[in-house]
Amino acid sequence: MSGREPAPMNAVTPADAELTAAERDRILAKAALFSPPPVTTADGRRDLVGLSREELVQELAALGEKPFRAKQLWHWIYHQGVTDFDRMSSIAAPLRARLAERFVIARPEAATVQTSRDGTRKFLFRFRDAQQVETVYIPDPEEDRGAVCISTQVGCTLSCRFCHTGTQKLVRNLGAAEIVGQFMAARDSYGEWPSPKDDKPRLLSTIVVMGMGEPLYNYENTAKALRIVMDGEGIGLSRRRITLSTSGVVPMMDRCGEELGVNLAVSLHAVTDELRNEIVPLNRKYPIAELLAACRRYPGASNARRITFEYVMLRGINDSEAEARELVRLLHGLPAKVNLIPFNPWPGSPYQTSTYEQTAKFAAILNEAGYSSPIRRPRGRDILAACGQLKTESERERKAAG
Ligand code: SAH
Ligand code: SF4
Repeated sequence: MSGREPAPMNAVTPADAELTAAERDRILAKAALFSPPPVTTADGRRDLVGLSREELVQELAALGEKPFRAKQLWHWIYHQGVTDFDRMSSIAAPLRARLAERFVIARPEAATVQTSRDGTRKFLFRFRDAQQVETVYIPDPEEDRGAVCISTQVGCTLSCRFCHTGTQKLVRNLGAAEIVGQFMAARDSYGEWPSPKDDKPRLLSTIVVMGMGEPLYNYENTAKALRIVMDGEGIGLSRRRITLSTSGVVPMMDRCGEELGVNLAVSLHAVTDELRNEIVPLNRKYPIAELLAACRRYPGASNARRITFEYVMLRGINDSEAEARELVRLLHGLPAKVNLIPFNPWPGSPYQTSTYEQTAKFAAILNEAGYSSPIRRPRGRDILAACGQLKTESERERKAAG
């Protein structure tokens, strides 16, 4: 090394910025190839769920209705959770009938619902084109609140070695209606309507975007859905109650922070590029140093709003004390916490979870260095609802042979 000061970790040169912009365009163009089907029913009615406020105003303007109607409808759809136009008492009957002729307020169909011994509930949701994803509600064992883990893609293009979803090819992206619809249908299942206001307790109190798929490879639809969820006149869950998990799609992380400001979780899982290249193959594109630099830039990251690093504990693979110390070194100066996730097995999975003792040793090193590092209790394992166990039978339609 020369005597020069190293560039600060978070410095972005103009050339970097251009590269990132080009890469971002490429990611968005690729996402468009996996677009969801149109949001219309077989009889041609349009689903109002998933439209932005502006789009809703436009739909109503096309019927000659004023913008305040959109506000009323928004309230019925997202605050009251109504799916039947006839229950919209602030709207006169003739208009209700006209709306019902043209529109629906739909939910994904729950093909199966299973509840685990520990209260975790897994939904298999089926969409209009018969594609399916899983959504999980994880109640807090001590209090009346809980997290809804939602999916953003059918399958995943990435193939992290420890993840069941990663064995399922990407079929398609979910649309905004399908993403917000998972949360709304989960709320239906617990009867949590109207949306509790302000800080009133909620049973479905947080959203973790940690189900099937890589949300930053379906950014536009995910962002649209989360904006609907955060809208204060509807579901009204604040950005602080939403955590988006990424395997490290660096060029999209800045946008996510600037535009949505939700909490960020990063699936790190290894402290050397050599190992991470193998278990999280996206690392070959965006190696650890770039990923951590993007974390350092993440808007709003502070001690009050730390970035969560997820670290799946794989026995004899990534769980040594030396690796824990290296992790401390890598995270230096970052407002971070580390979730240690015991590996959840699935049929045919190639790893074993670390022993409890080894996980505790790993956690102790992080704790001593000042990083909170809870060991996550696996939930819903008996119904394959735990982290990384989700997978559906959906396949991409093959072109007819010959
Ligand atoms: N694609 C995103 C979000 C979905 S995965 C991402 O990778 O972050 C949600 C979390 O579950 C990730 O941290 C993922 O690494 C973890 N995970 C995947 N398979 C797992 C398994 N078998 N056991 C425990 N955690 C797993
Ligand atoms: Fe995809 Fe996340 Fe699973 Fe990796 S861990 S295969 S990114 S869903």
